[in-house]
Amino acid sequence: MKRYANFFRRMLTFSLIFAALFAFNGPLSAQVKTQIVAHRGYWNTEGSFENTISSLENAHKAGFYGSEFDINMTSDGVLVVCHGPAVGDIPDVQKASFSEVMHVKLSNGEGVPTLEEYLKAGKKGFKVKGADGSSKNVKLQLVAEVKAAAPQVEEEVIIKLASLVKKLKLQEQISIISFSYNACLLAVKYMPGVPVQYLMGDKTPEELNAAGIKGLDYHYSLMLLNSDYIERAHKLGMTVNVWTVNDREQMDAFVKLGVDYITTDYPEMAKEVIEENNRLN
Ligand code: MG
Repeated sequence: MKRYANFFRRMLTFSLIFAALFAFNGPLSAQVKTQIVAHRGYWNTEGSFENTISSLENAHKAGFYGSEFDINMTSDGVLVVCHGPAVGDIPDVQKASFSEVMHVKLSNGEGVPTLEEYLKAGKKGFKVKGADGSSKNVKLQLVAEVKAAAPQVEEEVIIKLASLVKKLKLQEQISIISFSYNACLLAVKYMPGVPVQYLMGDKTPEELNAAGIKGLDYHYSLMLLNSDYIERAHKLGMTVNVWTVNDREQMDAFVKLGVDYITTDYPEMAKEVIEENNRLN
């Protein structure tokens, strides 16, 4: 039964990709403009773990455009970087105290970074060695996902995040994403000029644009079904991101459809797909 389910899932994917590409009538540019966002950092390597400083460092070293990470607030008001709700042996990070979260040891031995630690590391960048042995400092885009919570909690999170962004002068190096429409609106309000992308998928590009949210970051299946969103968003000067694309054929389809960003757990695979498209163009 499982084999048949997999077969039909793949058939559905192929038909959606074919339909999306058929519907696409924009010009293909000579050079692929799609950039790669490492989902929860580049953790899919030996010795790393999602949402850690090492996953951020790996994303820098591999030269990706951005590192996505998740922000939660502890019960006593400290912003930390982890997906949640469970982290280590804590069932719900939003109900745990900061000191409890700081005692967590992740499976690779790292601790849970505070948001300030994570942002400071991203701001500083990392030294990367080139093929010729020279070393340079590399920085990437910090793609911050604000986890949904009660409206007043979301406002507290956004105010604290905005204050850190201002203090560290990160306005040019950070983007905010959220499944919560309320959190996106608050990000627009408290961080003017900082790119905001909505994740849930239930708004048209025109609706988001009217609300001042200048980007959409939708699930790949939804984006394949609504591939006209890409051109409609671009016409409005908005950016288009898709998550979480872990399949080579789907990555290829989105590169050809001209999305701005692909968020993936397999950023090296996305790099190969982009290089392949650049060779063929
Ligand atoms: Mg996330």
